[in-house]
Amino acid sequence: MNPYKLWLDNLFDAAYVVDRDRIIIYWNKAAEELTGYSEEEVVGKSCSDDILRHIDFYGVDLCQNGCPLHKTMCDGRKREAVIFLHHKQGHRVPVHVRIAPIRNQNGEIIASIEIFSNYSKTLHMIKELKRHKKESMLDPLLHIGNRRYAETMFQARQLESKVTGSLFGVIFFDIDKFKAINDTYGHAMGDKVLLMVTRTVANLLEPFDIFARWGGDEFIIYLPNIHTGEDLRSIAGRIKNFVQSSFITLDDTKLSVTLSLGATLVNAEDTMESVIERTDLLMYMSKSKGGNAYTIG
Ligand code: GH3
Ligand code: MG
Repeated sequence: MNPYKLWLDNLFDAAYVVDRDRIIIYWNKAAEELTGYSEEEVVGKSCSDDILRHIDFYGVDLCQNGCPLHKTMCDGRKREAVIFLHHKQGHRVPVHVRIAPIRNQNGEIIASIEIFSNYSKTLHMIKELKRHKKESMLDPLLHIGNRRYAETMFQARQLESKVTGSLFGVIFFDIDKFKAINDTYGHAMGDKVLLMVTRTVANLLEPFDIFARWGGDEFIIYLPNIHTGEDLRSIAGRIKNFVQSSFITLDDTKLSVTLSLGATLVNAEDTMESVIERTDLLMYMSKSKGGNAYTIG
């Protein structure tokens, strides 16, 4: 056996190799664990098939627009980036990727290797909740905070912003036409879609952000480092784009959903009730635009 293959197989980081035609010719165990796809499912496929579908920080599809692997194949330069790949369960996973060319004895580039590792930062929040054994505040299906958690954390955030005198951002969102997913594909698939959305959103937040399920297909996020409408617009846009580009593969179809979001900055006079009332109204304005939209107010 090629000793390099054995070495790659046992690498702590995930790794895969694509040839010049962008066909995946190698896939290690850690890549299986990080993406949910086995070697059999991936080797021989094109990396632009509906397997990895890397997107960048803003949700732009890198397969169509500037795939870093392809660039390295063309110019032979090593690259590093943080991108979001598609997990077999549908959600987006942030990964730190390092890409290098592989050359033959004549120095010609014959393939590229991508080594990648998990870059998720929000697991912190879940660990905190579990450590404090606050099961009463944890949603049992989605493993994020529940409404009680959201209400408790609102008081804490509001106190903090009164002390520091700074505003913070709140985003309230609802999945578009979610009932139709349950009706068409069954409740169990509906649960998987809820998990996909939750993980994708959690994976693009920062460790200090608070993310909770308000109820059913409604969620709320507190963003303590968002102080301007422009920042709010940027993060709301990213959440919209990331969820839109997350999908579960079902035979020949790609199952995905979109969100309607309402986003606002919280002021010193605001209460939980006033924030919910305002963001709910903004969220419905997004629904009336046809969904897959955000409204800032
Ligand atoms: P809209 O675009 O107006 O938001 O329509 P919608 O179909 O998303 O909204 P509606 O409020 O009518 O439906 C929400 C559905 O979410 C109804 C409910 O059965 C479903 N739901 C709530 N909680 C869960 C859950 O934990 N799992 C699953 N699978 N479905 C759930
Ligand atoms: Mg809905």
